[in-house]
Amino acid sequence: MTSIESHKKAKALKPGSVRPAKELCSECGLCDTYYIHYVKEACAFITQRIDELETTTHNRPRNLEDENELYFGVHQEMMSARKQQPIEGAQWTGIVSSIAIEMLNRGLVEGVVCVQNTKEDRFQPMPIIARTTEEILAAKVNKPTLSPNLSVLEQIEKSGMKRLLVIGVGCQIQALRAVEKKLGLEKLYVLGTPCVDNVTRAGLQKFLETTSRSPQTVVSYEFMQDFRVHFKHEDGSEETVPFFGLKTNVLKDIFAPSCMSCFDYVNSLADIVVGYMGAPYKWQWIVVRNDTGKEMLELVKDQLDTQPVMSQGDRKPAVQQSIPAYDKAVTLPMWAAKLMGVVIDKIGPKGLEYARFSIDSHFARNYLYVKRNHGEKLAAHVPEFAKRIVGQYKLPE
Ligand code: FAD
Ligand code: SF4
Ligand code: SF4
Repeated sequence: MTSIESHKKAKALKPGSVRPAKELCSECGLCDTYYIHYVKEACAFITQRIDELETTTHNRPRNLEDENELYFGVHQEMMSARKQQPIEGAQWTGIVSSIAIEMLNRGLVEGVVCVQNTKEDRFQPMPIIARTTEEILAAKVNKPTLSPNLSVLEQIEKSGMKRLLVIGVGCQIQALRAVEKKLGLEKLYVLGTPCVDNVTRAGLQKFLETTSRSPQTVVSYEFMQDFRVHFKHEDGSEETVPFFGLKTNVLKDIFAPSCMSCFDYVNSLADIVVGYMGAPYKWQWIVVRNDTGKEMLELVKDQLDTQPVMSQGDRKPAVQQSIPAYDKAVTLPMWAAKLMGVVIDKIGPKGLEYARFSIDSHFARNYLYVKRNHGEKLAAHVPEFAKRIVGQYKLPE
């Protein structure tokens, strides 16, 4: 038996059973397949391998002396972009879905791993291998919950597919890169999104119920660059809630332990990443990591308006203040939160500086979480780039 086949003897875990990473499991889906055989070296929460896999994937390590690479990972190019004709109902303007559609229709790939929702629940993720434009479009918009995207990996090998696009978030992509050579593919393309503060389906319900005026009609939401959460409702209306007014004391425990321990916010191992946080308000942010990513972007360039990335403001005082405030679960009264939101929006960090603000404050919080809850893992689990980023701040014990 070749090494490619030895994993086929392994047995997927049953739904609901304890996963090898225990409470840190982000439900990436790998353990729902026989690729669980490789879990020790593939799981982002058992063996953190970002630095090493970056070099194999992009043919060079991240340059830690370059501030943009330190923060945003290996890249050739970054830009702000938006679709000239946005896809209705997409999370932002639909650049992710558009790249996937072009790749499928031009025959670069035979299938696209993406995540639709179940019929009963718009936020319950249902990973699929899409083979038509309609199936890709049915996966548009974030399912803001842990999603087992890799649970379809066995189907790929069985289908005989040779060229594949996978859309996913950092923890899913680390596990995917670790088993990439075992999938029997000729070419794998990886389209990533940044990801932070993810929750279980139950955690999401609690967030919606404590934060939105009408939890049952929310169709999507985003933590935006204007320091507000924007909820879109079924009737098309928009509701905004300032970050500083969030009920931190209630929300502190809703983020999944995996996401409180995650340092791959910017999806370091994807070929191209499409988010928003490094771009001006209402624009998307594109990070092209390697030649494969460049090839993917070229397919949709004529559908996009683009502009260079910008950076403005000084995040560091705001980050330093946010660390003890989060730790003590401080919640401002709504009037003060609104005022603070307006002031920060006027003078606060913008563009890449906003992205650095978000990375700094999440990494500091997560570093403290790992130190306090999984101290024995701290040294190996936190990548070198994250240690340098956190090292710029004074942390409480
Ligand atoms: P669309 O065309 O609407 O396509 C969305 C794609 O996302 C679909 O293909 C779908 O398969 C995939 N998807 C949906 N839910 C999941 C999931 N749970 N796991 C894996 N794949 C999924 N960007 C930032 O810049 N900063 C952030 O802090 C940030 N946080 C995020 C948190 C989560 C949980 C997710 C899923 C995304 C986050 N993003 C963040 C990315 C951003 O919200 C948009 O997804 C991205 O800009 C693409 O928008 P779009 O309109 O091009 O996507
Ligand atoms: Fe398995 Fe993925 Fe959970 Fe790790 S995160 S234990 S690889 S399902
Ligand atoms: Fe995975 Fe990290 Fe996103 Fe959590 S925050 S779902 S661990 S990429």
